[in-house]
Amino acid sequence: MSFVSLSSSLVSRGYFSSPRIVNTLAYHSSTPKRLEYSHDSTSRERNRAVTSYYNQSAIDNAAAKPSVRLTPSTIMYSGKGSESTHILKSAQYLQKELPVRIAHRIVGFRSLPFIVGCNPTILSVHEMYIKAFHLLNDFPTIQDMKDEEDYSRLLENLLDDFVHVVTQLAEGFKGSRKHMQNDDLIRQFLDRTLTSRLGIRMLAMHHLALSQDKPSHVGIINVSMRLKDVIEKWADFVTRLAQDKYGKAPRIKLSGHINATFPYIQLPLDYILPELLKNAVRATIESHSELSESLLPPIQITIANNDVDFIVRISDRGGGVRHNLMSKIMLYNFSTADLSDELRLESDLFGSLLETANRTTSGPMHGYGFGLPTSRAYAEYLGGNLQIQSLQGIGTDGAETFSTDVLVFISSGIISRKIV
Ligand code: ADP
Ligand code: MG
Repeated sequence: MSFVSLSSSLVSRGYFSSPRIVNTLAYHSSTPKRLEYSHDSTSRERNRAVTSYYNQSAIDNAAAKPSVRLTPSTIMYSGKGSESTHILKSAQYLQKELPVRIAHRIVGFRSLPFIVGCNPTILSVHEMYIKAFHLLNDFPTIQDMKDEEDYSRLLENLLDDFVHVVTQLAEGFKGSRKHMQNDDLIRQFLDRTLTSRLGIRMLAMHHLALSQDKPSHVGIINVSMRLKDVIEKWADFVTRLAQDKYGKAPRIKLSGHINATFPYIQLPLDYILPELLKNAVRATIESHSELSESLLPPIQITIANNDVDFIVRISDRGGGVRHNLMSKIMLYNFSTADLSDELRLESDLFGSLLETANRTTSGPMHGYGFGLPTSRAYAEYLGGNLQIQSLQGIGTDGAETFSTDVLVFISSGIISRKIV
């Protein structure tokens, strides 16, 4: 980590009250030769960087405001209109709302335990939030469609900058969580940061989509989403991923209410479904390593749809989850995978596959231990939950087909919930 990053985080956390103390630190940690530079331009630049990092009254002010939540039905109705006034109104709403949401997240980063907040990857995400806050907060008041266009370009760039945040946080916490005793604290921070990011992305993407004319869509809301199509898309993706990694993949079968359609936002499912399917496919293949593709027990997906929610059950015969691991698998960063192996694969295999899959999901086949906890946080954010039932088996003689059922309940009454 560079000196500036570290010292600025020290200051922002209130460990040091002024840049002078940071300079003193620089003094003591520098070689005599470098001391000669303490008043030159390098030092001035460092001071500026440090000051801009902790002197953040705009962030403090925004963080003191509550965020104004919308229901999807509100944005669905405000997303209709023959003129472009609804697009202008949407941009003006975002201009008020986004800085507040981002400021709340920055407060979250500041309250992380010191040693965790100093992790270079976590610090760089923290800095990205600060930069995004200023870009959005300093944007001139949106008055006409020309301003709206410029604002939309800014949103596009920010969406792009933040695309890898889940993987970056996964990496950062992997490196630093050994310094933290309190699992609850990590869970609260990550649940909040990840779901808030999801909400911000939904809002920004919805706004951008308002000016596109996509059949049966209002912004990002698919007014007649066919759950079967979304599941099939991700089943294909994970099948190809597994065939590249293991040379084989189990069949994925679909049953239940396969014709159900309802209004929904696909974005969160684009994270949850591939993560759960990767887990089921990995368990199936690794627990039956000796079996050829055609003999692998298939993964069975059942869709159930009703007035209150929709449920997706993913049943695999991948040996189940051992009793002693059941309480751990929902922890962020818990994985039974060998990370180094996965990261090697990620660079060649996953990089190219992800491009073709809209870069909506992140991370390799497994290894970060983020799939389950993040999926559960998203499901709860959407008014549902995620349950795991495991039928554990003993031994691995190949004839056994002990199973894991992952049930994701998601409220289809999303329309009345304040989530975005
Ligand atoms: P990762 O896949 O990166 O390991 P996850 O959060 O997706 O992280 O899963 C955590 C752990 O839970 C996995 O490493 C695995 O041990 C266990 N697990 C998850 N799903 C299944 C499943 N369907 N069958 C058996 N074990 C599973
Ligand atoms: Mg996983």
